[in-house]
Amino acid sequence: MPGTFKTEGVVLRSIRFGEADRILHLYTVEKGRVNAIAKGSRRPKSRFGGRLEPFFRLDLMLHEGRSDLCTVTGASTLDGYPGLRADGPAIDAAARGCDAVLRLLDSAEPNRPAYNLLCRYLALLDRGAHAPSVDDRPDPAAVGLAFRLKLALAAGFSPELRSCARCGEGEGLVAFSGAAGGVVCGSCEGGGFRLAPEAHEFMVTAMTRPIAELPDASERALRQAERAINETLEHHAHVHLRSVAA
Ligand SMILES: [Zn+2]
Repeated sequence: MPGTFKTEGVVLRSIRFGEADRILHLYTVEKGRVNAIAKGSRRPKSRFGGRLEPFFRLDLMLHEGRSDLCTVTGASTLDGYPGLRADGPAIDAAARGCDAVLRLLDSAEPNRPAYNLLCRYLALLDRGAHAPSVDDRPDPAAVGLAFRLKLALAAGFSPELRSCARCGEGEGLVAFSGAAGGVVCGSCEGGGFRLAPEAHEFMVTAMTRPIAELPDASERALRQAERAINETLEHHAHVHLRSVAA
C-alpha cells in the first residue's frame, strides 16, 4: 500500500546509482527485506551524510510508491559500529553475514529474531575489533558459523542435530547428510560425510547459546560444521553461501 512508514533497518548493501543516487538493500524490522533509493545521497552536501553505507543500523523513513523500490526520505544513525568499520577481518565477516541475510531472507516478511541476530552479530564484531589483544577477539570463522546456524534457524532451515534425520535414532550419530537435513546414524550414513563429535557439539552449542558465548573449536571441527550447514542450505533452501573465512 503506498505511503510513508518508519522502521529500523540495517544496510546490507549500498550500490552507486546514476549521477548522485544510491540503491540500498536493507533488512528492516517492519518489512524484512526492502530495496530503496536514496536520491542525491552521493552529493557532497547530502543530508544523509555517510550513513548509508553497509552495516549502519538506522532509523528510517521510507516512502512506498507504486514501484518495488521505496524512497528514503529520512535516516538517522542508531549505530555505525565504528570499531568494525576500521578493522579488515571484521568488515569481511560482516560482509559475509550480510550476504547470507540477502540470500536466505529475501521476502518482505518481518522476521524479528533474524533482525535481532544480525544486530547482535554486528555489535559482537564491533566489540571484538576494540579488544586489547588478538587473544581477546572472537574467532571470525567460529562466530561467522554460529551466525549462519542461527540465521538458518530464524529462516526455518536449521539442521536436525538431536537424532538421526533419516530414522530418528538418538545414539551413534556419526555422520551428517545435507540431503537428509541433519545428523545421521551409522545405518543411515550413506551419502553423508563423517562428522566428528566435536563438530556436532559445536553446532549444538552455536544453536542454543548466545553468539557471544562460543566454545573454542579446532579448525577441523569448524570445517565440518561449515560443510554441514552449507550442504543443508543448498539442499533445502537452494542457497549457496560463500565460505565463512577467506
Ligand atoms: Zn538412522
